[in-house]
Amino acid sequence: LPTVMIIGRPNVGKSALFNRLIRRREALVYNTPNDHVTRDIRDGIAKLGDLRFRVLDSAGLEAEASSGSVLGRTAAMTGYVLAKSHCALFLIDARDGIHPLDLDVGKWLRKHAPGMKTIVVMNKAELLDNITGSLDAAAGEAYTLGFGDPIALSAETGFGLAELCEALRPPIEDYVLQKIKVLDEYTCVDSSYADENIDSKIPLQLAIVGKPNVGKSTLLNALLQENRVLVGPEAGLTRDSIRVEFQYEGRNIYLVDTAGWLERTKQDKGPSSLSIVQSRKNLMRAHVVALVLDAEKILKAKRSMNHAEVVIARRTVEEGRSLVVVVNKMDLLNAKQYDRVVNAVPEEIQSVIPQVTGIPVVFVSALEGKGRTAMMRQVVDTYEKWCCRLPTARLNRWLRKVMSRHSWKDQSAQPKIKYFTQVKARPPTFVAFVSGKVQLSDSDLRFLTKSLKEDFDLGGIPLRVVQRNVP
Ligand code: GDP
Repeated sequence: LPTVMIIGRPNVGKSALFNRLIRRREALVYNTPNDHVTRDIRDGIAKLGDLRFRVLDSAGLEAEASSGSVLGRTAAMTGYVLAKSHCALFLIDARDGIHPLDLDVGKWLRKHAPGMKTIVVMNKAELLDNITGSLDAAAGEAYTLGFGDPIALSAETGFGLAELCEALRPPIEDYVLQKIKVLDEYTCVDSSYADENIDSKIPLQLAIVGKPNVGKSTLLNALLQENRVLVGPEAGLTRDSIRVEFQYEGRNIYLVDTAGWLERTKQDKGPSSLSIVQSRKNLMRAHVVALVLDAEKILKAKRSMNHAEVVIARRTVEEGRSLVVVVNKMDLLNAKQYDRVVNAVPEEIQSVIPQVTGIPVVFVSALEGKGRTAMMRQVVDTYEKWCCRLPTARLNRWLRKVMSRHSWKDQSAQPKIKYFTQVKARPPTFVAFVSGKVQLSDSDLRFLTKSLKEDFDLGGIPLRVVQRNVP
């Protein structure tokens, strides 16, 4: 598993974060002997959203730290353990701004783990409030540590964990890809690494997202065919996210109703800002995201999606989640308007999210219960494609055919793709093994992705194709 180490001066809340990440599961504590000191490093398996990683808490190493040198005699030990980690969480106290000891930790990190992905975490953020801008000010200061955008978090309350998960995803996924071992031409993947970050026992998780009043709760009720969720005309009524499990054609589905995605930049205070955090978290946990749009609003605004909706859609595909667009309130349209919406929306969606071709769009009336079956079929179909695994032998037969189809810009510099394999599902991730040091161009990668989609019927799925060089 990838290893994440928590580092920081005393009292910033390292152990609290550690406990939060391992969800108070029993931590393994082991002693690491090193010359004169023997200190404890707590070692646990963290589960954060759909990520699983090993987490190390260096708090036990502090006992020896003298005030003069932050990590005291244990610095060497911590450095040794850090060097074996893949990512560092650099904790600071959100209330204190940058403490001189934080600067020492920053210097020390740069010296001992140059180039290591480091995420600055401003802990105890629940004690500051964003309304007066104090959290933003702290973030501005934390940025000057030089490790990129900090994350505001409360290990105590769990606030900010969704964002931490998003920040950790790239280094953790990178690690998984790095672990690919070339065994032979056809079984070139050590499959033990393939899906370790996804708990496959979890049933299909469907998030229903969209702006307030587009009809999410009504749709949820229509899907459940019973009134379990409060529905009403006032915006923001469904404040809390509610998770409901139901069965569709014998398959268990977790339905997550959310309080409506609001842009973070909106001046949004009080309880509904919590809903935003919740929505982001749900989106990230979802396998399929159903983005609900209001057909009447589309007609009025003469465009399918407003800015906030485009943001949700883009974010969903960037996160590698599969997206189904649900156009609701079709009952309010006359025949002509109906046709106009059905014709215009898919094309418009394609133009704002060109990264993924063929995003499925379904047209429903939640109020009249029409289109439910079509929607659920699309959700399940999309999910199955998202989980698909294509056998390496089949992919390589396909590769040989597809390579002859592609018109390479420069024939003499045509990269030789030795083999092609799927390393991960959910989303389907492929690796093209290229001989020598040649880099595939963006247009080559786009061509491969497009051909995969067409030839294996994977339209609408956010595929990833990466390159690795082999001798
Ligand atoms: P949410 O905020 O997205 O959860 O929206 P609600 O489900 O609370 O719906 C907002 C309003 O739109 C309510 O008055 C619903 O009755 C109405 N509504 C929802 N779906 C439909 C639909 O398919 N057709 C029509 N005509 N109204 C709908």
